[in-house]
Amino acid sequence: MSNTDGLKGDGDNPVAGATSDGERSLNFIEQIIEEDNRNGRWGGRVHTRFPPEPNGYLHIGHAKSFCLNFGLAGKYGGQCNLRFDDTNPVKEEHEYVEAIKQDIRWLGFDIDDRILFGSDYFEQMYEWAVRLIKAGKAYVCDLNAEQIREYRGTLTQPGRNCPCRDRSLEESLDLFRRMRAGEFPDGSRTLRAKIDMTSPNLNMRDPVMYRILHAEHHRTGDTWCIYPMYDWAHGNEDSIEGITHSICTLEFENHRPLYDWFLDALDVHHPQQIEFARLELTHTVMSKRKMLELVTGGHVAGWDDPRMPTLSGLRRRGYTPESIRNFCERIGVSKVNSRVDLALLEHCLREHLNRVAPRVMGVLRPLRVVIENYPDDQTEELEAINNPEDESAGTRVVPFSKVLYIEQGDFLEDPPRKFFRLAPGREVRLRYAYFITCREAIKDDTGNVIELRCTYDPATRGGNAPDGRRVKGTLHWVSATHAVDTEVRLYDHLFTEQNPGDVPDGCDWKDGLNPKSLEVLTGCKVEPSVSQGTPGTRYQFERNGYFCIDPDSTVDRLVFNRTVTLKDRWAKMAKKTVK
Ligand code: ATP
Ligand code: MG
Repeated sequence: MSNTDGLKGDGDNPVAGATSDGERSLNFIEQIIEEDNRNGRWGGRVHTRFPPEPNGYLHIGHAKSFCLNFGLAGKYGGQCNLRFDDTNPVKEEHEYVEAIKQDIRWLGFDIDDRILFGSDYFEQMYEWAVRLIKAGKAYVCDLNAEQIREYRGTLTQPGRNCPCRDRSLEESLDLFRRMRAGEFPDGSRTLRAKIDMTSPNLNMRDPVMYRILHAEHHRTGDTWCIYPMYDWAHGNEDSIEGITHSICTLEFENHRPLYDWFLDALDVHHPQQIEFARLELTHTVMSKRKMLELVTGGHVAGWDDPRMPTLSGLRRRGYTPESIRNFCERIGVSKVNSRVDLALLEHCLREHLNRVAPRVMGVLRPLRVVIENYPDDQTEELEAINNPEDESAGTRVVPFSKVLYIEQGDFLEDPPRKFFRLAPGREVRLRYAYFITCREAIKDDTGNVIELRCTYDPATRGGNAPDGRRVKGTLHWVSATHAVDTEVRLYDHLFTEQNPGDVPDGCDWKDGLNPKSLEVLTGCKVEPSVSQGTPGTRYQFERNGYFCIDPDSTVDRLVFNRTVTLKDRWAKMAKKTVK
């Protein structure tokens, strides 16, 4: 069975994203796989896995890893497991498991028949640990954590053997059995691999395989009071599942000798570990530890705050799964760490939303306009195009009446030369409606313009003058009596700096948080067609960007998130480079 079976919709294959697969050259992992297939290393099998630790929500970096693993399996007719690496009972929670599944489904992958849990292999891992003890390759050590650190040495100094290293197999076996039986307190003993305390690679200096921890596990309850360490558990899990290519991020490169040592020592199925560069984005932090700190510290409203790089945050912000998969395909995989410009992600988003988001008119900062020569009680229904990029999206009607709202920024009393919008005496087009001319600006006591008195030209219905008269500006607008009153949340970068992780000594990375990353506007006026939307519905508000209805909306109060503005910095940069 091919894993692409699980992908919703044919044209949705993430490996066939922006650059179609036929066009681009093979990435280095594909080259390894094709070489393996040529020489029959795995019998032509490709079996990958995506192994999240359920200690936080997935972010866009995880999406890169997931799309890569799932995409490779699909491309080579193989399989990809979703495996929860749930070997640490203290940090893991059921809530995260559910959120991760939901996020992956939302991305467009059907993995329901391939959901596995590392904790299901605890018994097997234990037996394999016993096997290593019996082979003289592991021993129970009585040092505590601090002593272990002391004995380990440093990058410049070799480590020292601990006295327990030479205890008999029988004694280690007996102690390990009693560790499991719960006879010893937390942290009092460990099981360690007997490798080489003088190895230049610190990971090889008799790494801990098991620690004692009397803690409830979200799946195994209190069955276990010893838990396997990551390096031991991970290779075991890969081997048990028959993984062929175990793809992980670069920081595990110097763990690979240990991964290999364990599997060689056990003499079991031995996948190949391959490392690639993790995704980092500008203006964003992506470690779960840091994201958790933002959440618990109240710097954001939660894991799904629309400013977060989590998939739940991006979803709430209005990102489409297609745009994220496309982005993951475009950035490719490499061996060199780099930071991808957030503008590229936004570019992928705009590109998709431009095709699929219906256009509506919404005024964020309303200024009242009264059309003096328009009949008091008249309403007209004007035809508007839903999406100029997609004829099949059809048209809708937009009500027009005597009192309207336009954007405050579309009027200036004393405009500079290049300002083509409204000003006293100026004529502009109201989109899909009429030409209007500003006759007078009404001010409040403090001199703020609060209302414009205008006239319209009835001959320009639909937005064109029969006499061929031209206007330079076209404004969006809504009819006051028909408008839906909404709250709109505007977002900016969560961090002001491009690389928020790079902080000078003595500074906190959180100091880089952008105090203006959220701006809430109330009293925004949107055309009535949006009242049919539900949370998650996306629109383009003409001239203002793409917006999405937030789940905070209630029956009588619509809340919109601005997903992204219309200005495409990436497209501009790309154009410049082409020239
Ligand atoms: P973090 O450092 O954000 O806490 P993690 O590596 O601890 O992430 P895991 O749950 O262990 O998170 O990750 C699951 C998989 O996703 C791993 O294979 C990991 O290598 C990969 N992954 C995590 N972050 C990124 C990233 N930024 N880019 C690409 N892959 C990533
Ligand atoms: Mg990890």
